[in-house]
Amino acid sequence: MKAEFLGTAGYHPSEARHTSCVYLPDAAPDCGFVLDAGTGFFRLAHRPLPKRLDIFLSHAHLDHVVGLTYLLDVLVGRQCDVTVWGLAETLEVVGNDLFDSPLFPLPFEHTMQTIEVGEVFEVCGAQVSTFPLTHPGGSLAYRFDWPNRSLAYITDTAGDGRYLDFIRGVDLLIHERNFSDDLHEVADASGHCTSEAVARVARQADVQKLALTHFNPLSQTDPAEEDQLCAEFPNAIFAHDGQTLEF
Ligand SMILES: [Zn+2]
Ligand SMILES: [Zn+2]
Repeated sequence: MKAEFLGTAGYHPSEARHTSCVYLPDAAPDCGFVLDAGTGFFRLAHRPLPKRLDIFLSHAHLDHVVGLTYLLDVLVGRQCDVTVWGLAETLEVVGNDLFDSPLFPLPFEHTMQTIEVGEVFEVCGAQVSTFPLTHPGGSLAYRFDWPNRSLAYITDTAGDGRYLDFIRGVDLLIHERNFSDDLHEVADASGHCTSEAVARVARQADVQKLALTHFNPLSQTDPAEEDQLCAEFPNAIFAHDGQTLEF
């Protein structure tokens, strides 16, 4: 199975990175999953689409939802059934605010499916589990279990590790790492993570592979050069836009 990083920045795009979006093109036959819809979502316009696209939203901060307004472009001339999943408060903001004039000229006309906190359900043969994260306004973690693969998507969150059991043993952990280790106080205050916190969580939860994403665009340094992550968790990568990971 593949995870393609369409956007790996938090907050706002940089020259090299768009904001949060991960695409799983072969989540099931004829079904693709999208994890958050930041500005990187526009890149789906240049990719083949399956018959069905399920978009899972962590929360309603703009760097995770603004790309939904690009659906018109992504779908032009193509047939694809879109369903957006999220907590009620997230979907309300999308439906009532993001897609309301004068912010956007057209209403949202795709299916929206509300998730209860902690709910477990099935989408296209994958068992989907959810867990509430520590972040201003809240955020929702996702875990996807297929018969022979598993993936957890953890963003945005403080590095408190409350979700250790939730992510235990996954084949691929995609985790936010907004700040470098020297900014751990800023990370704590803003409900985000450092490399050190993520490496600790990945080690304790016994995950197989770790991909960091959601990087602070205000930093001019390559995140891979900021911290010694691989010494802490050797099977880790700092994801970049356009990168595809097999898991
Ligand atoms: Zn964010
Ligand atoms: Zn956020």
